[in-house]
Amino acid sequence: MSLRNGQHYLAIPGPSVMPEAVLREMHRSAPNIYEGELVDLTDSLIPDLRKVARTQHHVAIYIANGHGVWEAALANVLSEGDTVLVPATGRFGHGWAEIARSLGVKTQMVDFGRQSPFDPAQLEQVLREDTEHKIKAVLATHVDTSSGVLNDMAALRAALDATGHPALLMADCIASLGCDRFEMDAWGVDVMVAASQKGLMTPPGVAFVFFNDKAAEVRRKMARVSAYWDWTKRAAPEYLYEYFTGTAPTHHLYGLRAAVDMLMDEGMENVWARHDLLARAIWVACDAWGQGGPLTLNVADPAHRSRAVTSLRIGLPYGPKLRTWTEQNAGVTLGIGLGMFEKDDPKGQGFFRIGHMGHLNPQMVMGALGAIDMAFKAEEIPHGSGALEAASAVIAAG
Ligand SMILES: *Cc1c(COP(=O)(O)O)cnc(C)c1O
Repeated sequence: MSLRNGQHYLAIPGPSVMPEAVLREMHRSAPNIYEGELVDLTDSLIPDLRKVARTQHHVAIYIANGHGVWEAALANVLSEGDTVLVPATGRFGHGWAEIARSLGVKTQMVDFGRQSPFDPAQLEQVLREDTEHKIKAVLATHVDTSSGVLNDMAALRAALDATGHPALLMADCIASLGCDRFEMDAWGVDVMVAASQKGLMTPPGVAFVFFNDKAAEVRRKMARVSAYWDWTKRAAPEYLYEYFTGTAPTHHLYGLRAAVDMLMDEGMENVWARHDLLARAIWVACDAWGQGGPLTLNVADPAHRSRAVTSLRIGLPYGPKLRTWTEQNAGVTLGIGLGMFEKDDPKGQGFFRIGHMGHLNPQMVMGALGAIDMAFKAEEIPHGSGALEAASAVIAAG
């Protein structure tokens, strides 16, 4: 007998669950790309995307995944031979640095490991020592999706300001946008990258570079930017094709419009509050399981944890057993560990992640937690009791 039929829940940190409203909007025949509805719909997205990112400034849309906008953002403000400072708090920080190096940009890495946020005071010291201002930008991951670490962007801005360093502050919000509070303008972020398939609840395939006037000025002084990556026309198009330097991602735009409507209807404050409550329910459940077994939250301090993704260590052989059981018997797919290799676990299979981003409510969270609880019992993995009661109490308290 298999119990897995019924609605499947992909509880990984992207792609996230797509709302029915998004899927319905995408299910249509090809629209006119020269005039009419799609043109108006695309124009209408821009002010709302700004509201999601909490910025008054510019946004360029790319037909790309997160890696694509990693490159797009760098290509507009950095040239071969330039230096960037990269505070890494997990696999994704290193990933952005790898793209930078592939463009001939030198990366000055400060590695904060895989369990803690970056330390703004330490970064301030590094910036202070750069008296010649060789560092052109700081590439900072807001939420590192591998470790689940949440970093303090406002504190990093304060560190830059304290030293008077002119480097651009560039933020990777691919995991966090629409999940964890992010305030681009108030926090002084100059460039921010995001993608459709996480908090924005739309299939992978469109991604965004937000940038302010300071970054636009850096772009203007660049000797050369690829005509495809150039954000100038994309952020100020006359014709639909100029948004995308070519054919529009027609169906993604319809889906994205529906997803952004949902965010606007709910309100960003409420979106963040919902993610916060659901994340806290997951954490108390994990704490309870951990009381009587090997499960531990990767980030000890809740203040430094993302509300979009939780990274957990359970060790071998339990990690694969747990994930396989929930997928095959309960219709819940959990995320694998990413970049979390250890000496006795070279593939990091003792880690797993729960994605809790986007289109998510208490019954889904309790369902996923229930599936994990069942897997503990079915696979006889040592664990503490009371996890589901604790999670239920957190949500009930609101
Ligand atoms: C998902 C993610 C990426 C990479 O996005 P892809 O769409 O897989 O290229 C980069 N950074 C962060 C923080 C992410 O969560």
